[in-house]
Amino acid sequence: MTDRLAQIKARAEAATSEPWLLQEDDGDTFRAPAWEIVHAQSGRMLARVPDWAVSDAEFIAHVPADVPWLVDQLEQARSIAVGLENEVARLRGLVADFMDPDPCHYDHHGYCQAHSWLQTDPACPHRRARELEGGAA
Ligand SMILES: [Zn+2]
Repeated sequence: MTDRLAQIKARAEAATSEPWLLQEDDGDTFRAPAWEIVHAQSGRMLARVPDWAVSDAEFIAHVPADVPWLVDQLEQARSIAVGLENEVARLRGLVADFMDPDPCHYDHHGYCQAHSWLQTDPACPHRRARELEGGAA
């Protein structure tokens, strides 16, 4: 996935700079009507799309602006995900430090007497911590 993202970024950076404009060509005797994607600064035509495919032409015309934006959004999301993964690992370590490894012992009410937890919902925090760690409840 990262390699593909790098390839997408490289293609976007190598492409003609934005903005790209969408212009309608009414056609003539020798040319069918079409949409032309034109480089705004140079006026050069980059692509010609049949007039029935206006949605595709619109999509193509927005690619040079949309793809870098999407790549940036993805990179930001990945950065946030890495930070959250690190935070989860830190919190799991903290939970493990606080967790009593001794098993829970429940009375007839379902309260944990081993950890003095006098309610059933939520369950004893030591049980939930063991479940979080994938251990036996
Ligand atoms: Zn308990």
